[in-house]
Amino acid sequence: MSTASAFDPSALQPDSAAQLPSAPASATPASTTLPAERIRVRAALESLPAYVAGKPAPDDGVRRFKISSNESPFPPVETVREAAVAALGEAHRYPDAAAQALREALGAEHGVEPSRIALSTGSVAVTGDLVRALVDQGDEVVYAWRSFEAYPILVGSHGGTPVQVPVTARGEHDLEAMAEAITERTRLVLLCTPNNPTGPSLSTADVEEFLTRVPEHVVVAIDEAYREFHDPATVLDSAGILARHGNVVLLRTFSKLQGLAGLRIGYAIAHPRLARALSQVTLPFGASRPAQAAALATLQPEARAVLDRRAAWIRTERDRVAAALAEQGWDLPVTQGNFIYFPLGEQSQDFAAFADARGLVLRAYGADGVRATIAEPEASDLLIDIAAAWREHS
Ligand SMILES: *Cc1c(COP(=O)(O)O)cnc(C)c1O
Repeated sequence: MSTASAFDPSALQPDSAAQLPSAPASATPASTTLPAERIRVRAALESLPAYVAGKPAPDDGVRRFKISSNESPFPPVETVREAAVAALGEAHRYPDAAAQALREALGAEHGVEPSRIALSTGSVAVTGDLVRALVDQGDEVVYAWRSFEAYPILVGSHGGTPVQVPVTARGEHDLEAMAEAITERTRLVLLCTPNNPTGPSLSTADVEEFLTRVPEHVVVAIDEAYREFHDPATVLDSAGILARHGNVVLLRTFSKLQGLAGLRIGYAIAHPRLARALSQVTLPFGASRPAQAAALATLQPEARAVLDRRAAWIRTERDRVAAALAEQGWDLPVTQGNFIYFPLGEQSQDFAAFADARGLVLRAYGADGVRATIAEPEASDLLIDIAAAWREHS
């Protein structure tokens, strides 16, 4: 006979907490001295650049727009937010580690079997999974530079050797030089289109021609984080490329147009063999319940219609800003992302400081350039004014 008492979760809600024994006060105060250590951190970490996140707006009374992280200026679509909130009610349960419902929906979306979809906590994490699945100590990963800041960190931290191929003066991938950079040790090539932070994109013909020069055992990852902001008439036929090449993997995120950067979810579409390898190395239970639910909700027709309108709005706004800057005499790389790049070289830090003092937080990249995200129209208007003032001042 069971003697278990009736299970009543509501009896243990906070209003009954007063009846619970209180936790003992911590006996040992926090110590300010640290013990000696002889930890052996991997030597590879010594040479890694730190990921510099977009600066938060400082709290000094100046009203600032933070347009330094390519985030969406729009909060999540209401139905998407509701799905995430509803999923919180189940937060005491582990998420579906296989993310079956989401992978099926994404498979249908892309016309591929769900077995070809691999998910993780953002496409940065999926890129890390690619490195861990493919790259042994000393193997090489080829990518353009300047490109996404996370690449050198992901490659180097997993023991790979980064091979950075400079972008052209127009901020474009130099595919000729990238093909030449492939060696016996190359396991992975990362193409970023549109390229963050410079803006230009790759054409289908360019990528197909490049692929003829890549050995079939070398994986080519196409990072399409900004795909939705591209002119739809000329956007890369990545589905066709994927269908034709067993060594191509597409990387997609919910962080940009879908506005879920804070929930962390992204995915790869790959050959089933590679997708399986990714699932073997990925963080177990990485994509949380709210993240899976929210991502799934973005694929519903109603949410999709809203997102399509937002993408069109960003494109129009970007073209408005680019035209205004061209009018002022700026000669900037063509951008297909939700951002604009100023290749200012040695003046980059000064320009970012100049903008900061006038209410805009931008992202400066060493002595290469400065990136501004297309966000609120007030922020874009301010960017146009600041860019004009800079030209007068310098
Ligand atoms: C923002 C961005 C991503 C997306 O990263 P998440 O981890 O999904 O947030 C991927 N690639 C590039 C080039 C990006 O700029």
